[in-house]
Amino acid sequence: AGGEEVEIREESVETADGTPIEVAANVGTRADLAPAAERGADGIGLFRTEFLFLDRESPPDEDEQYEAYHEALEAFPDGRVVVRTLDIGGDKPIEYLDLPDEENPFLGERGIRRSLGPDADLFETQLRALLRAAGDDAGGQLSVMLPLVSTVEEVREAREILESVAADLEDEGVAYAVPEFGVMIETPAAAFLAPDLVEHVEFFSIGTNDLAQYVMAAERGNSRVSDLGDFRQPAVLRAIRATVDATEGTDVWVGMCGEMAGDPDLTRLLVGLGLDELSMSAVTVPQVKRAVTETTVPEARDLAERALAASTKAEVEAVLTESTQ
Ligand code: PEP
Ligand code: MG
Repeated sequence: AGGEEVEIREESVETADGTPIEVAANVGTRADLAPAAERGADGIGLFRTEFLFLDRESPPDEDEQYEAYHEALEAFPDGRVVVRTLDIGGDKPIEYLDLPDEENPFLGERGIRRSLGPDADLFETQLRALLRAAGDDAGGQLSVMLPLVSTVEEVREAREILESVAADLEDEGVAYAVPEFGVMIETPAAAFLAPDLVEHVEFFSIGTNDLAQYVMAAERGNSRVSDLGDFRQPAVLRAIRATVDATEGTDVWVGMCGEMAGDPDLTRLLVGLGLDELSMSAVTVPQVKRAVTETTVPEARDLAERALAASTKAEVEAVLTESTQ
């Protein structure tokens, strides 16, 4: 609670009854790396690479990107670094890309849609830099994640491109490794398709900022509909549950990297919903780590069951309030 100092834990944490939960940080620039490590993050659960492309005249080339990813891996030698490929469009414009003027940019050409379309060259360059960084043995483990997936074909196509990039590097005699490969679950389509998507990936990361926006048809950042576009809405919780359910009995791990993951008052609920990893702005890492250690899985599951049974946001909130008293 407000202003209270919370102990920083360098070590990874588990629930009071021994289930490990990875607590990672979201980063955008290299300036975010040191604070993330200092706050005790286990790794990076979301590297928003848009920031490498903003406020400049032309895109960063392969070597510049390689350096940035290499630096992130060095900051977490024992951790995992999940790098999201370029997520441009929607609310994230870039001058030199000459983005189309769309009436509904959030429903338009953004994220993976651009990477498989007009930004195909940028996508390939980014993947080359990522595969080279994954081949470094000095740092942590690199994972690549696709934004705004809504079909199985997108994932298949992106994976084929990644494989052809690997083949090119092989032919050129350039050192590389094939990274872990995953997708963000941030559209209702991806949540519905999760049972199919598990066949094509090693992990999911739920982006609740966009997932809430698209499940509720309520624009993120629009205060007139912020009550609707809230992750405490039962429909959002059920989309999360459906996603996690699809991973049960598989080797696919499931994390969350939207705002929701960083609220320590929701940690017990998220553990109960079955998340393996939570990634957030570095500030709340210590609070979330502490909240993980203070819950048990049966208690968390019981809370999640009650929250999932609620049919209104007010009921969800009542269940959550009750659990913290
Ligand atoms: C999300 O949508 O929840 C997310 C983490 O991605 P971004 O906020 O960068 O769109
Ligand atoms: Mg998003």
